[in-house]
Amino acid sequence: MTVFGAGADTRSVPNRNLVYEALILRTRESPAGDRILTMMTAEAGLVDVFVFGGPKSKLRSLASPFASGRAFVYLDPAKDFRKLSDFEARDSYPALREELGRLWAAGLVAELLIKTSGGGGDFPFVLELGREALRALDSRSPERGDYAVALFLWRLVGLLGLGPDTEACVSCGRGLSTASLGRAAGEVRGGDDGRGDGRDSGGMARGGGAGGGNAGRGEDQLAFAYSFGAEGFLCPSCARAASRGSSAATGDAARTAPGFPRGPAAEWRRPEDGAFARESGAFLRILPAALDWLRDSEKKPFAEAVMAGLDGPALAGLKALLFGLARRAAEAPLASLASGFLPT
Ligand SMILES: [Zn+2]
Repeated sequence: MTVFGAGADTRSVPNRNLVYEALILRTRESPAGDRILTMMTAEAGLVDVFVFGGPKSKLRSLASPFASGRAFVYLDPAKDFRKLSDFEARDSYPALREELGRLWAAGLVAELLIKTSGGGGDFPFVLELGREALRALDSRSPERGDYAVALFLWRLVGLLGLGPDTEACVSCGRGLSTASLGRAAGEVRGGDDGRGDGRDSGGMARGGGAGGGNAGRGEDQLAFAYSFGAEGFLCPSCARAASRGSSAATGDAARTAPGFPRGPAAEWRRPEDGAFARESGAFLRILPAALDWLRDSEKKPFAEAVMAGLDGPALAGLKALLFGLARRAAEAPLASLASGFLPT
């Protein structure tokens, strides 16, 4: 009896050894107690594999969440069974585990990749995007983490074909440049002269403090907006028209302006974010610097783009926008955002 003779009894489909370029996103236990890894791969998108061995096995510790490298997988096509046989880790982003905010951000990256089925199809690009985001989270100071997450979300929605046009107003087609903002400011001043009394009494009723109220309104009028209903940015004129058309939306926009609660998860899971994504008429105030940041980031490599900073209100609006877009891309609530979920 030879090896070949023994083989004659088995099915004709051969067992195979596969190699993937992979980023490990998640581990979980099967009902039978086995460990299952979910990996983002360049070759096949999301791939689930079994990992055998006790808690102290070398392979198990090598192949833990956010490790990046080459995965060697044994495939038994007859049983549709994949087992990790080796993992050659090139990077494990160790600083992610040293700080809760970074770990949470990495968990959000992993969750998005899983819930978008590996980013839709351009798997090598998506894998590299995920690695770049983790690299930025790993190497930058924790305060820069917001930008790494924001840029990851922006590029992912772009790869999924859900990124809004940053050049033209979705409603009237007008350009969304800083120059268009200057023209809009002129229109606002002209308009106010014509019906100043009516607006002032409205301002008194709403705001109270005269100086602060005026400054606040001026800022509103010079901002862009993002409309979740129209799925695009609005120029200042269309944003003003939209805010006049819906008092409920105006209230929401005012609430999102400055001063978010602190903490990595809290900043991304304010309750009104969910409302924004669900209400077709809802819109979000976007300051010019935030729109410039999105536009400029498209021309730069990831590591360079995350170094560009914004002031607090511009960053807050940017994050609220990208959360809404991410939620739509995932077509599901995001556990990272809803409950401060952290991967283990
Ligand atoms: Zn417009």
